[in-house]
Amino acid sequence: MKIFPPQIWRNKETMYRLIAGKCEKCGNIIFPYRDVCNKCGSTKINKIKLSGRGTLLTYTTNYQQLPGLEKVTPTYIGLIRLDEGIEIVAPLTDIDEDLKDNTRVEATIRRVKSDSNNGLIEYGIKFRPVENE
Ligand SMILES: [Zn+2]
Repeated sequence: MKIFPPQIWRNKETMYRLIAGKCEKCGNIIFPYRDVCNKCGSTKINKIKLSGRGTLLTYTTNYQQLPGLEKVTPTYIGLIRLDEGIEIVAPLTDIDEDLKDNTRVEATIRRVKSDSNNGLIEYGIKFRPVENE
């Protein structure tokens, strides 16, 4: 049996794919997608799918765990410059201890947390290192 709570269902396009907006007027890329350009104020925004690939600029290691999150310690949060030129902060996965800055990374869908009240598992985008690129 599959359960899709309405909110998750509504957001699945942006949750499961990297959807951004591209301003028709000035070319600005808006992520996450919004229908107003944050540079020029235009509302002519086209949806584009980001490649999901980028370069890890830097990252931090987090040894604290929030309640309800998967018990994987430590966790890593990276600052990633996507190939489209925008920088995002996102969780990292499949990380070796000797992770270096400027590692190539790609987006992947991973379990983020499970809700102990209703047993639903939330998924979200995490980035993992790409080898041999
Ligand atoms: Zn614009």
